[in-house]
Amino acid sequence: MKSFLNRFILSWVYNIFSIIFRPKIAYMKTIIIGTGYVGLVTGTCFAETGIDVVCIDIDRDKIAKLRDGIIPIYEPGLEPMVKRNIEKKRLTFSTGIKENIADTEAIFIAVGTPPGEDGSADLKHVLTAAREIGKCIDSYMVVVTKSTVPIGTSKKVKEAIQSELDARGVSVAFDVASNPEFLKEGAAVEDFLKPSRIILGIESESARKILNRLYHPFLLNGHPIIYMDIPSAELTKYAANCMLATKISFMNDLANLCELVGADINAVRKGIGSDPRIGNKFIFAGIGYGGSCFPKDVKALIRTAGDYGYSLDIIKAVENVNERQKEIIFSKVISHFGINLKGKVFGLWGLSFKPNTDDIREAPSLRVIGKLLEAGATVKVYDPVAMEETRKITGDTVEYGIDPYDAMIDASALILITEWSEFRIPNFKLLHRIMKDKVIFDGRNIYDPAEVAENGFTYYGIGRKGSSTNNIL
Ligand code: NAD
Repeated sequence: MKSFLNRFILSWVYNIFSIIFRPKIAYMKTIIIGTGYVGLVTGTCFAETGIDVVCIDIDRDKIAKLRDGIIPIYEPGLEPMVKRNIEKKRLTFSTGIKENIADTEAIFIAVGTPPGEDGSADLKHVLTAAREIGKCIDSYMVVVTKSTVPIGTSKKVKEAIQSELDARGVSVAFDVASNPEFLKEGAAVEDFLKPSRIILGIESESARKILNRLYHPFLLNGHPIIYMDIPSAELTKYAANCMLATKISFMNDLANLCELVGADINAVRKGIGSDPRIGNKFIFAGIGYGGSCFPKDVKALIRTAGDYGYSLDIIKAVENVNERQKEIIFSKVISHFGINLKGKVFGLWGLSFKPNTDDIREAPSLRVIGKLLEAGATVKVYDPVAMEETRKITGDTVEYGIDPYDAMIDASALILITEWSEFRIPNFKLLHRIMKDKVIFDGRNIYDPAEVAENGFTYYGIGRKGSSTNNIL
């Protein structure tokens, strides 16, 4: 009884102590500015290691929802982790930096860097965040750019902070660092928790120590932190995305050639992918890359090179091939049905730029929908999670199915855009019954052409044998 009483009293003392002195209990505190796909995942995963994290965003609505445990994006595994860390009081959300700056050792900028008119990355959000930091820091911290930014941005961040400090007439030491993010939407939590590498561009020992401590828990799988100078870190992110985009455009280009010469891109893929120098990842043909990163990062690197008077010819070709590939499905559709699609219904499966995300930024689906509508077709769509986001753009111009088959009633063709798992083994018999014409355009090569044909459909894939050919190139 006495020991129970002791425990009870001790627990109350601890609770009161932790309410009053909470910021002092945690070993470290960080702030993440920008609570989108990258910022929210970064903040949540850092909080998971036991430190205090404040996620900041200018979007008041987003912050209000997050405080209530409502996650504004679809990202597998994120919701329970956010809720758990909110409950443990390690993860908080705010719209202001100033009131949260005390005791912060590292502050990450993870705001958007959308493409500007000329293709360059628009740095207005990054530099606004930097100025906000300069307005309120009063002790040493490291300011880390996690957004994807062109070479030289960390220098601009440093200048923006310093000019605010000068305006305040105060002298506060700080460092800048570059820490580009490599997580993949759809597997962002997993990628962040078990990164293949952490890239850190630094210019001081103090920054190295803080970031090393912060990232140490994520490197227990043996993958390294690779330290480098800041410009190299900034360029590494663009180089990675451009290399991946190159793989995709290379395969798409070859797939188109396969159709002309009667070869099969899947066989070619297996043939070259078995060479370890090439590798078998990221070499699938399809309808072009989309998303919030590859298109804008490819454009931005071309632009950066241009600013230095250099022409990145390979990357330019990658972009051109991708632009053409985004139209490939529509070309196949008009080659089959003719240019006037008035009165015809097309059902689309998948809207997000890839499976397991609700992100539709630069998604090929939007291009296909636009083209079909322009040609007079009626478009029905279905996606497991991205319909709400799509509706913000397409509104009432398309019909939204309540399930995959609802979107196919009276359709002249099924157009597979995104390879969500639930589309992988369709009920062909049901489709045959409810569709008007029996045509399948498989934008991701997920169906077996022979099985589709056996079920009474005409099949079009991307660069595949067994596809009906329609000489679109
Ligand atoms: P996002 O659009 O999902 O989120 C950005 C957030 O920043 C928004 O919530 C916005 O309201 C907020 N914001 C803008 N200005 C702000 C300010 N001054 N203060 C506070 N918040 C502000 O963007 P994202 O997809 O998370 O990408 C962020 C950056 O990370 C980009 O540079 C992107 O290229 C890069 N990146 C993205 C991914 C990805 O898969 N999405 C992967 C790696 C790197």
